[in-house]
Amino acid sequence: MVAIDLQNVSKRYPGGGRGVLALDSVALSVEAGEWLAVMGPSGSGKTTLVHLVGGLERPTSGSLIVAGADLAALSPRELARFRAETIGFVFQQFHLVPYLTALENVMLAQYFHSLADAAEAEAALAAVGLADRARHLPAQLSGGEQQRVVLARALINDPAILLADEPTGNLDEDNELRVLELLRRAHAAGKTIVMVTHDPTVASLADRRVQLHHGRITDISWLTAGQDEQWDEILEQLWILRENHEPAIAENIRVAGPLPLANALDSMRQAGLIAPNGLGWRLAPEGERRASDIIRRHRLAELLFSDTLELHDEAQVQAQACKFEHILSPEATARICSFLGHPRACPHGSPIPLGECCPREAAAVSRSAPAGERD
Ligand code: ADP
Ligand code: MG
Repeated sequence: MVAIDLQNVSKRYPGGGRGVLALDSVALSVEAGEWLAVMGPSGSGKTTLVHLVGGLERPTSGSLIVAGADLAALSPRELARFRAETIGFVFQQFHLVPYLTALENVMLAQYFHSLADAAEAEAALAAVGLADRARHLPAQLSGGEQQRVVLARALINDPAILLADEPTGNLDEDNELRVLELLRRAHAAGKTIVMVTHDPTVASLADRRVQLHHGRITDISWLTAGQDEQWDEILEQLWILRENHEPAIAENIRVAGPLPLANALDSMRQAGLIAPNGLGWRLAPEGERRASDIIRRHRLAELLFSDTLELHDEAQVQAQACKFEHILSPEATARICSFLGHPRACPHGSPIPLGECCPREAAAVSRSAPAGERD
């Protein structure tokens, strides 16, 4: 049985001209009882995805069915009821109410659902190992203890679906293990879990892993640690080979990584990033997008280091750019691009792919399209 079904879901936030496309035509299906981990760099749309599934935000377009409810069709009141009855939220920004005790915070969630029951709320706190902290205020609890209260609060109404956004972020090892054990128990009890995490070890506890890149989703369940960066390196090389009019055959691709090249290429084909082309490979549309992002981040980082930070050692510039291409968020990339005046070429003269932030005048003029019709 499918618990969560997204078809062609996009979410655009208003602001800054065309706004921010946080999710771009996402298709995702989660089985009832499945534990899904959502990974991806900062700004890639992870929080937006769990907000949509939890009915905290509405999609701009697409179909979103959660626990049998068509969320787009629900009124605000029905949506609030859906949240109270169906979803348990483990979100850091859903703070505990500071002037209520741990017990009262849990009882408040009960109240929104049905009837507050102190004994039941105490039992929920005992289940997360906080029986002796029930009368403490949030400020009197450690971060890890607060997160366990949040979990007790999320589980008190026995929701079918648990949504967790970085549930172990900022926790010490001991509390991280406790929180993960609570999630494992919830999974064993049959709950559907969607968990956002940066941590590959935490993600490995889930049944399946997906990754977001600029609002687009890829199933990466079969990936092991480091493989994702290997994919990025391969995409980058395919892009550069094409630029240099060299054949994109395996012999011309030089990357290190956890998988032998042939296997890495095959898994990238399965993920829809590349397609066979004669004796070699070409970028599929999804790979094209991702490669363009990486190249853009790399070349902007090169410019930043060589021009703005006046780092003149070529090897150092390359080493830094190779690090930054994996960690720059879309916002940081757009800020660097704007700061540098939307440059069109890197220090070596190679073209920098256009980003969402770049003015489109050149393209518009050549197509002589009126400004309003540009996309
Ligand atoms: P992640 O959780 O992966 O870091 P988010 O889902 O928080 O990513 O954000 C995805 C993109 O949407 C980012 O570019 C972010 O700045 C933007 N965004 C998120 N929330 C809002 C909002 N309320 N208004 C405008 N833009 C937003
Ligand atoms: Mg987030």
